[in-house]
Amino acid sequence: MSTTYSRPQFRLAPTPTSESRDFWTGGARGELLIARCRDCRRFFHPPGPACFRCRSTNVAPEPVSGLATVAAYTVNRQPWIPGLEPPYIVAMVELDDEPDVRLITNVVNVSLDDIAVGLPVEVFFEDWTDPSGDEDTRVWLPLFRPRSA
Ligand SMILES: [Zn+2]
Repeated sequence: MSTTYSRPQFRLAPTPTSESRDFWTGGARGELLIARCRDCRRFFHPPGPACFRCRSTNVAPEPVSGLATVAAYTVNRQPWIPGLEPPYIVAMVELDDEPDVRLITNVVNVSLDDIAVGLPVEVFFEDWTDPSGDEDTRVWLPLFRPRSA
């Protein structure tokens, strides 16, 4: 099986909210933006108006390294979404900057034999615009691939 990722014909893209917009659009500048508490300095996800640890509302998105580690994964073999051909890997990755921050994503460019818990991965972004062409719905999906050395 080829492990070279090619962009699918279609994806179910999220609709950004005022709280999640930075997360979904930071990829326009190549940045994975994660909410960070300015008081306890910890990152948290999903983004929200307050830090769940210390309840501070002094929170704002900050770029992280984009480096992460596969914490769990499953191989989807069902053609749930037309244009997104199985098999593909749905994974939970933990960010190196804050292992407590876990993202559900796709890990690509890795064979089904080589995907494993503990695999070091890095973010990249896939730009999607809603078929309506509305710029407000444009998102840069954070996907992950094995680190390039
Ligand atoms: Zn805090």
